[in-house]
Amino acid sequence: MFEPAKIVMQPLSSRLYDRFGVDVSVLRLDGIHPLVSGNKWFKLRPALEQARKLRCPILSFGGAWSNHIHALAYAGFQSGVETVGIIRGEPEYAANAMLSDARRWGMRLQFVDRKTYRFRDCAHYQHQLSLEHGNALVVPEGGTTPSAVHSVSEIWQLPAMREQGADLLLTAVGSGGTLAGLVAAKPEGSRVLGVPVLKCGPEMLSRINALLLRAGYADSSGWELLEDAHRGGYARLDAELAAMIKHVDEVYRLPLDPVYTAKLLMAFNRLLFEGRVVAGSKVVLVHTGGLQGVRGHQARLSMLASAFSGPLVV
Ligand SMILES: *Cc1c(COP(=O)(O)O)cnc(C)c1O
Repeated sequence: MFEPAKIVMQPLSSRLYDRFGVDVSVLRLDGIHPLVSGNKWFKLRPALEQARKLRCPILSFGGAWSNHIHALAYAGFQSGVETVGIIRGEPEYAANAMLSDARRWGMRLQFVDRKTYRFRDCAHYQHQLSLEHGNALVVPEGGTTPSAVHSVSEIWQLPAMREQGADLLLTAVGSGGTLAGLVAAKPEGSRVLGVPVLKCGPEMLSRINALLLRAGYADSSGWELLEDAHRGGYARLDAELAAMIKHVDEVYRLPLDPVYTAKLLMAFNRLLFEGRVVAGSKVVLVHTGGLQGVRGHQARLSMLASAFSGPLVV
């Protein structure tokens, strides 16, 4: 795959962070590429290498606004690997901005109903799909595999990350692959917090532990999930979140997406107020990208942001 653009660490200085005596920076993985953003570049890299070697297509799964599907379509196009997207929902979604891009980059789309989509992790269904689509390499939803975990773990080796170091690192969690990778290579003494952006319950914890085990990391401690930070569930957008996105973009020039990274920042700021971050901590928030997906929310975002009148926790 293409080499990523230089990844920078953006310091965030605010009275809030001064007041709590914490040093906060954002690792701008969104800067890797405007389309294969952030964590998706790391997660897709091993599958693309494998598919190129095997000269086979990559097949994967996602919803109509999936960042993963969008990134896969572009990365495949760009690396000469055919791609197939199994999309949950109706064929009329093919006209939305994300899937229009995917089709333009040559991704073959197959729409399946919710019932069928539930079989996406079933080996038999995957095998059948692979045969139907030229012995495609099947990558699970979100691109989360043990080799993706290894690839993500290299984030700790980025120059920006090595220079800065982190007592506490936070990342948003969808399928958990990114968190697993960051936990896998976590230096001794650093703590990692995952912020699930969907209602998930304890099964997320066991899923991530199982993934770490499969990737060869048997003993992984020093991390936890903040299970109450999803703000109502996946892709739920409220006025406070919208107002924070607007504020942070204007004041820090830090663009956030409403599904993942805005919930991450909100969760971190809440932690401060709850007294759960030790003064003197060096904190890194991982910007996992997702900005191309904002197109689906733009209108609601500005409407909601202007409706918010309370004080912002920023
Ligand atoms: C996909 C995605 C995530 C979630 O990554 P997982 O590895 O599935 O947990 C987080 N942030 C952004 C912007 C994403 O697109």
